Amino acid sequence: MPREPIVLFDNGNHLCLCFDDLVSGDGVQSNQFLIVDDEMRMLLDPGGDLTYTPLSLGLSRLFPLQDLDYIFASHQDPDIIAAIDKWLLHTRARVICSQLWARFLPHLTANYLAACHGISTYDRVVALPDLGSSVQLGRCHLKMLPAHFLHSVGNFQVYDPISKILFSGDMGASLVDDASPVQSFTEHVPYMEGFHRRYMASNKVTRLWAAMVRRLDVEMIVPQHGRPFVGKAMIGAFLQWIENLQCGLDLMGPDDFQVPR
Ligand code: FE
Repeated sequence: MPREPIVLFDNGNHLCLCFDDLVSGDGVQSNQFLIVDDEMRMLLDPGGDLTYTPLSLGLSRLFPLQDLDYIFASHQDPDIIAAIDKWLLHTRARVICSQLWARFLPHLTANYLAACHGISTYDRVVALPDLGSSVQLGRCHLKMLPAHFLHSVGNFQVYDPISKILFSGDMGASLVDDASPVQSFTEHVPYMEGFHRRYMASNKVTRLWAAMVRRLDVEMIVPQHGRPFVGKAMIGAFLQWIENLQCGLDLMGPDDFQVPR
């Protein structure tokens, strides 16, 4: 039985929860988030079959599952949105994702949704333009921030101006087994370095992203895998690290493009 979710923020009207221990078996540890404001609810990057059952059980202890308003998908990967057909069927939520992925998401859903339940996947998708947008949840205006090429070509993150949490998707992700806050930045680097070098597209975008994040008032950066960065000093250390990281295309050369023997 999964643990209770971690409360990241709660002021009585606005709540941010993190489910951090739903993955068992072969999957990479991952964090699923729920933002609630004024009885409206957004679920972030709910994942695939691996997390659907424990997450839907965890949520239904908090509210009737049908009442979920939004599902945010930072990008198109299996650990992000693979169980979209179950969420469309069992909730009335609309799915927010990049316009680049909106037309591909129907490939994840089965014909029975339309045939037996009259559910059109495309009608339930809110397609974000490349520049992002604001989405109202209760009295809160959540910012859908551009994070393209970090790592997906059409990639978004959520900034919550009330909790001052940046839900950063794969940015800042670490391959560890828990979601306790990073204590020593230097000791944490080995758990995220290989992932960021390979999955992030280039230093150009990490710099652009870091500059955008510096213009926001952020108290916590919470990635979809591994440990959050809490407080201005730790967030500053991460931003400085990522904007100086050579990654992706920066590291690719002729040796990486040889015809396999
Ligand atoms: Fe991904």
